[in-house]
Amino acid sequence: MMIRANKREEVLTSTSMWMCTSCYNCIARCPRGLPITHIMHGLATYAKRLNLVPKEQPTAKFAQLMWDNLTKKGRTNELKLGLSLYFMNGIGEGIKKSLAMKDIGLGMMKTGRLSPMEFFGGHGVKDTSGLKKMLAKAQEIEEQHIAGYKG
Ligand code: SF4
Repeated sequence: MMIRANKREEVLTSTSMWMCTSCYNCIARCPRGLPITHIMHGLATYAKRLNLVPKEQPTAKFAQLMWDNLTKKGRTNELKLGLSLYFMNGIGEGIKKSLAMKDIGLGMMKTGRLSPMEFFGGHGVKDTSGLKKMLAKAQEIEEQHIAGYKG
């Protein structure tokens, strides 16, 4: 309704689209078949592109950390992702969170779900240059779409 009412600024600076968990319930249930999840993601991407994301939006920070982590080697480095999340608001908070989660982390290491060796590299796809090319191509296609909309 706000988009229809041309409340562009209010929509793009709101936190609503950052709360979407991508559960796809809305797409599965919408009687009109509207791609609401995609609209949410599109609004979030657009707000980020225009630098309109509310400053302390944790989901936006997480999305960026996840993207940076994943695109380095094509696979998530869970140890580094976890640590970057704990430390995203500073060293003090990072140490507190790490200590609070240490038993879970140690348990994961014992069962082989997390390896300290991930800190020194971790898994990745074999063809990282192919991965970079694919991401660059996706970016190029996205830019073409955006140019088409502006067009
Ligand atoms: S907007 Fe749709 S996909 Fe996102 S959380 Fe709500 S129901 Fe789930």
